[in-house]
Amino acid sequence: MMLPDYRVRQRDYLLEISRALTSRLNLNEVLRLILQQAAEMLNGHAALVALVEPDGRYTIRQSYGIPQPILDQLQPMLNQLEDVGEAVTALERNLIAIARAVGLGLWQVVSLPLKIEGEEFLGALYVFRVRGGAFSRDDRRVLQSFADQAAIAVHNARLYEQLSYEKSRLNAILEFSADGVVIMDAAHRIQIFNRAISNLLGIPASEAIGRKFEEVLVLQHKRAGIALEEAEAQGWPLVSASSPLFVEGDLLRRNGSLVSVEISFAPLFNRERKLINIIADVHDLTRIRAAEEMKATFISAVSHELKTPVALIKGYASTLRRADAQWDEATVRESLRVIEEEADHLTELIENLLDASRAQTGSFKLAPVELDIDDLVVRVAKKFQAQTPTHRIIADVSPTMPLVFADEARITQVLSNLISNAVKYSPPGSEIRISGRATPKEVIITVADQGIGIAPEERDKLFERFYRSERAVRRGTPGTGLGLYLSKAIVEAHGGRIWVEDNEDGQPGARFSFSLPRAH
Ligand code: ADP
Repeated sequence: MMLPDYRVRQRDYLLEISRALTSRLNLNEVLRLILQQAAEMLNGHAALVALVEPDGRYTIRQSYGIPQPILDQLQPMLNQLEDVGEAVTALERNLIAIARAVGLGLWQVVSLPLKIEGEEFLGALYVFRVRGGAFSRDDRRVLQSFADQAAIAVHNARLYEQLSYEKSRLNAILEFSADGVVIMDAAHRIQIFNRAISNLLGIPASEAIGRKFEEVLVLQHKRAGIALEEAEAQGWPLVSASSPLFVEGDLLRRNGSLVSVEISFAPLFNRERKLINIIADVHDLTRIRAAEEMKATFISAVSHELKTPVALIKGYASTLRRADAQWDEATVRESLRVIEEEADHLTELIENLLDASRAQTGSFKLAPVELDIDDLVVRVAKKFQAQTPTHRIIADVSPTMPLVFADEARITQVLSNLISNAVKYSPPGSEIRISGRATPKEVIITVADQGIGIAPEERDKLFERFYRSERAVRRGTPGTGLGLYLSKAIVEAHGGRIWVEDNEDGQPGARFSFSLPRAH
């Protein structure tokens, strides 16, 4: 049987569209082809595809035979259609009205929904006719096959978009992950080398890709876990793939230095359970190591700080207790004074430790009042001068300083800590100067000494818990690394700042300053 002419044409058109669908044409081109052919088939003069966008708006995605100025008027009208849903026919009426309104001169319109089995309503295909009779049922049937093709094209394009979005998202996650990520094939050839690992090792991705994992990530001093090759020799990932494979050790950097890391490996199988990729996650342990080291130094420093007063107390007490000795009044008094002082010292140390843990949990209580800061500075300086005749402690603050709003006991603690540090870290005979100045909102107090000073690279770290500078440790100056941490917590709880600078004019020594808000 011969096919009627329009059937032949329809078949040819559809064939051409399928070819376009499977070729690499983009969605707009495929839709354009569909519109053009649908219009030709139906003796139409214009056609358009409107799609429901992810945000629910109905937009013209492609058109045929409609001049741009008219399209520009159609789109805002489409925007006004509320909740299109599947109301294609309602839309059809609207479109006719719109077309007339904009002077398109189109009289007949036929529309069909773009739908795919089991998928949501994608949009609709419209064909307009200027002359000729109304669209017949046959016309609709013909149009349906075009609408179906358009639906497939739209659906594929959306899937593809989704896929490339997922892919670029995954790439971004990989690229910006804080951990180093290396993806290799089953033969350990590197395929992906992200920014973090490139920075960590100082090796550009372009040099690493294509080379073997073991050549680029050279592991030394293995401390724990199993290296990848070793594990594979034992049957990984088929054997024991369930427990994560990891290795801890040092990686060799391009510049010859080592960096302490933990690497974990995950296998990626294809559907046939064949290993296709191994993903290595490289976690930099430097910070953890540094924290561990800091804690160890802290514990030894604290034990030392605790031991000294306890030894003194014990020594004086057992001397006093000796049965064979008769002590005169003055000696007994002096011994008891030392015992009391050392007990106070112990209490202070324990208070500091408690404060540090309070500061860490943020449960620091303040009782702020309007405070005369110059008066406080003078009092604290006097007290220190009495205890420390070795240094000259000068309170250089104007008695007309504005009042601050602060907790007196806590600010005394900050001042004492800065002055005692200045004493500890500067030579006898040197000068410690405490000065103050006011800005419109704050009062700034500075404690300057002529001591060992602070290396520029250590300035930020000084205020961390337990941190002690290399110079301090090397000199054997006792301390716990808590004072500045606490001072910072106290000052910040008041809404102020604390910082350190070099002395002016390149003089040796350190200048610590803190600010407090002025009282209203
Ligand atoms: P510490 O008990 O060790 O003195 P701090 O927290 O008070 O603890 O100080 C932290 C570190 O800051 C000190 O170990 C020291 O290295 C450095 N530091 C503090 N004050 C001074 C100063 N005035 N001059 C030089 N270094 C200082």
